[in-house]
Amino acid sequence: MDIDQIEFKTNVFVLALRDVVVFPGMVVPLFVGREKSMNALYAAMDENKQIFLVTQKNATQETPTMDSLYQVGVMANILQLLKLPDGTLKVLVEGVKRFELIGLEDQENFLTGDIQELFSDETVSAEAQVLVTTIQRRFEDYAELKKKVPSEVKKSVQKTDDPNRLVDTISANLKLRIEDKQGLLEMLSVVERLEKVLAMIEVEIELLESEQRINQRVKKKMDQTQRNFYLNTKLQAIHEELGEEGSGDEIARLSGEIENAGMTQQAKKVADDELKKLKQMSPQSPEANIVRTYIEWMINIPWKKRSRVSKDLHKAQQILDQQHYGLEKVKERIIEYLAVQKRVNKLKGPILCLVGPPGVGKTSLARSIATATNRKFVRMSLGGVRDEAEIRGHRKTYLGAMPGRIIQKMKVAGTRNPLFLLDEIDKMACDHRGDPASALLEVLDPEQNKTFNDHYLEVDYDLSDVMFVATSNSMDIPEPLLDRMEIIDLSGYTENEKLNIATRHLMPREMKDHGIKSGELEITENAIIRIIQNYTREAGVRLLNQNLAKLCRKAVTKLVTDTKHSHIKVDADDLKEFLGVEKHRFGLAEENNQIGQVAGLAWTRVGGDLLRIEATAMPGKGKNISTGQLGSVMQESIQAAMSVIRSRSLELGLNEDFYEKTDVHLHFPEGAIKKDGPSAGIAICTAIASVLTSIPVKADVAMTGEITLRGEVLPIGGLKEKLLAASRGGIKTVLIPYENIRDLTEIPEEVKEGLDIHPVQWIDEVFKIALERLPEASEKSIKSTDEDLEKLVPGGDNLVKNMEKDHKRH
Ligand code: ADP
Repeated sequence: MDIDQIEFKTNVFVLALRDVVVFPGMVVPLFVGREKSMNALYAAMDENKQIFLVTQKNATQETPTMDSLYQVGVMANILQLLKLPDGTLKVLVEGVKRFELIGLEDQENFLTGDIQELFSDETVSAEAQVLVTTIQRRFEDYAELKKKVPSEVKKSVQKTDDPNRLVDTISANLKLRIEDKQGLLEMLSVVERLEKVLAMIEVEIELLESEQRINQRVKKKMDQTQRNFYLNTKLQAIHEELGEEGSGDEIARLSGEIENAGMTQQAKKVADDELKKLKQMSPQSPEANIVRTYIEWMINIPWKKRSRVSKDLHKAQQILDQQHYGLEKVKERIIEYLAVQKRVNKLKGPILCLVGPPGVGKTSLARSIATATNRKFVRMSLGGVRDEAEIRGHRKTYLGAMPGRIIQKMKVAGTRNPLFLLDEIDKMACDHRGDPASALLEVLDPEQNKTFNDHYLEVDYDLSDVMFVATSNSMDIPEPLLDRMEIIDLSGYTENEKLNIATRHLMPREMKDHGIKSGELEITENAIIRIIQNYTREAGVRLLNQNLAKLCRKAVTKLVTDTKHSHIKVDADDLKEFLGVEKHRFGLAEENNQIGQVAGLAWTRVGGDLLRIEATAMPGKGKNISTGQLGSVMQESIQAAMSVIRSRSLELGLNEDFYEKTDVHLHFPEGAIKKDGPSAGIAICTAIASVLTSIPVKADVAMTGEITLRGEVLPIGGLKEKLLAASRGGIKTVLIPYENIRDLTEIPEEVKEGLDIHPVQWIDEVFKIALERLPEASEKSIKSTDEDLEKLVPGGDNLVKNMEKDHKRH
């Protein structure tokens, strides 16, 4: 466009616009209400139907001035003018050409202005051409996304090859801010206008695309939920079609079962509430499964079913006698216990606790009590239980939660008054996960167990009808539990008792279990004794039972595979064939008297045992060495024993400085067993004395007792077990502390008869009995003669009997 071709107009009618920018080529309806604007329109209609449209910088301003209007506007033709009922006007205008306002005049009735055509370079560069095609393509994309672009707009954009017209058309149709639109209207350079419009289209496309992505994500989620709902409904319909239990049937069944379970009021309410929850859930959802499992638990634990408890003591005694040999005292205690229960008609008293080594019949006694009282029997092992939750369960919210073991076992029992055996109560551990002992205490306390609260069930369950019985290998039971218990000791069997148990109970049962008829297998008494002596070394009869079972197994195989045999007789000499080589050498730990070798007696968890102690001496610097898994108490015993020997060095005929030139090594073989406890003092002392004096120790003597520095023998625990071990070990003479005489009344006669029991008060008596001979005292020694010893220990051979009588008299 040449500069002199630029068009000027004076005194054109001006219409100030609010919130709209009109581009050339656009047909736009406008609503006009301001007096001066309406007058301008009327005046223009009268003249040439042309009017200058220019936008206000601030839409709220009532009377625009030159400054408050943008500089560039558009000359427009008025296509139509319509008076609206409220007195305002609707006017349809068509933008024609861009003009710049260069003067404004207020004519009182309306505004007029002087305007000048906008100078614009109309040569279309190659760059502009490329931009045009890009814009056309991108606008198509935009229209595709936007959906609402009218088709005539789309068409005109595709058709236009005048770049300015293209910009005007698009600008009018994009959703832009007024300032941006005005910017595009005012811009002179075609390329800049095109670039600006392209940028605007890109922004719009970006916005639309991200909006679409968001919509798609939301939709996908909604679709999935709908799909699940649809499939579940379908599945339910399929179940119904197949005649399987639909959720409706299930709810009805559960509801009936809750009704019939005989729950407490509290429990029933909780169960009903859970059922209500279940009804509202989709039946296949994981939540529904959790609720269903809970309800099933509530239904299946015994709320009202109970067995008819028998209180016939006579019958109880009969059953106990039938199923167990011996154990007279134990059975008597059990019957007494049942008698008290019968009288008070309640299970209020202490809990029975059977204490003893493995295989002495604790579990089977408990089973017999259950039979005798006609209660169901359930057993729960506490070995290794270290978590309170094992007893009380986990809360429902915990993944995979279940009730604790007490409730689980009650479900197994199926009645609310079973005999509940708490096995191995001493093996229960305690750590950071809570104290199982205190949870157990609540279970056992008759004040609290009426309302036992399992973490999973979360309702009270009444355990007060349950008869609890506990077993333990040792007295090492948590103190508060011990307080609730009535301890019954089962210390172990003598050889004769074992023989009887084997022939009367174990053999017949094993033969029956292995399908052997009486007459097909005969085991001689000698064979059983050989098994007891050479194949087992135990306080109970567990290994004995295992050996008999093995024997039966081999016998059955023989009977089945070899038809020659219809009767098998097993004597002592045949045992090798059935049970393999002998495991233990019966008799003494040592068959000959040895220097420095003493048989001590220990008390372990599995009953009493022979404890061999060996000592050797060698030239050295006075060191004491000890080996063989010793605890600290044992170490101290060794120190004390050494001091006792030193204080008696002259009586023992030792050089006064022997301890400076001799190293003594003490060894306790069978190293795998940890040895501790204060009862080996005199045995250690004897071993040292023997090795230093080179006098052998009698092999058939065993001893137990702790020692003071003065050489006095102190009492020990577990005498009964130790004496049983001595008799099992083929010991003839046993030295026990004088103060333990009182325990002798509890020892079975047959054990006492087989042993020569010597109570001793001083170590010197021990030496006298255990060493082959007494050492010759050194010259310097203060004479300690047999007479002195006699003074200390009056009595001689009748000693034991006298002392027992003494004991009874006091
Ligand atoms: P514990 O519970 O003390 O470890 P068990 O009760 O398991 O021992 O006993 C082991 C086996 O020995 C059982 O088969 C039991 O019947 C049997 N038994 C133990 N003592 C006797 C006895 N006095 N009379 C008959 N059988 C016995």
